[in-house]
Amino acid sequence: MRQKRAKSYRKLMSLYHINFGFRQPYQVLVDADMCKAAIDNKMDLHKQLEMVLQGDVKPMITQCCIHSLYLEGKIVQPAVDLAKTFERRKCNHREAIATDECLAAVIGPTNKHRYAVATQSQPLRVKLRAIPAVPLVHINRAVIILEPPSDATLRQKELLVATSLKPSAQDASLASKPSTSKEEPPKKKHKGPKGPNPLSVKKKQKGMDAALKGKKPEEGAKAGEKRKRSQEDDDHAEGGHVKVDIITGNDGEAGQSSGRKRKRKRKTGGGDGTGGGGEREAVEAA
Ligand SMILES: [Zn+2]
Repeated sequence: MRQKRAKSYRKLMSLYHINFGFRQPYQVLVDADMCKAAIDNKMDLHKQLEMVLQGDVKPMITQCCIHSLYLEGKIVQPAVDLAKTFERRKCNHREAIATDECLAAVIGPTNKHRYAVATQSQPLRVKLRAIPAVPLVHINRAVIILEPPSDATLRQKELLVATSLKPSAQDASLASKPSTSKEEPPKKKHKGPKGPNPLSVKKKQKGMDAALKGKKPEEGAKAGEKRKRSQEDDDHAEGGHVKVDIITGNDGEAGQSSGRKRKRKRKTGGGDGTGGGGEREAVEAA
């Protein structure tokens, strides 16, 4: 087989695979005439089918098809022998019917079992082209050929693509997804502020400490007095140095102001001298 043809067959089979769910081994319904044609052309039909369908195949023959071969007698014995190597497809026609009719019935209106059909019957192929996604194989002058996709197949494919692109189903899933995806971002947001904030607070307070060092404690105390009164109760209720420190940190300018208050607390907690260091430790702990 020429490289070009192999490529187009591969492309075509991937269409059947992707859009219509065809899977290897591909089930191929082989009709009686196809068996005869294969014998006449000394073809290894199984191998040829694998080549043309670009994958593993499972050739099958219906009861009616093999029955029609039996009727032809010994002259077609090689074809019968070939047909016997195929898997028998029960068609449940009690009395054998014409092979074309039998195959059309097995394919049905939608080819739900995803058969490919290898037939030499022109009328049957015309009929099956009206059904979407029926890969059709025939032999022409000793060459096995996979037909290009029928119009029905292409239309159905467009339809499937269009519906798959429609938001309806996906939107529903997307609509439900945001609730989960919305849950995640807040977590991230939480992480974000948590990380940077302590760092920025620390930096500010370090700067604040430097400011405190630079200034005399009394200055801070004077400034802090007013503020202290407003917050005193709360601070005392919370009690910790840490709490106080956080407040000073957040309040930028009030940093020096709470100096006096701190002093007072230190009187209850520790000494005045060590207070400065202790405070810084507390800040860093926070
Ligand atoms: Zn049948």
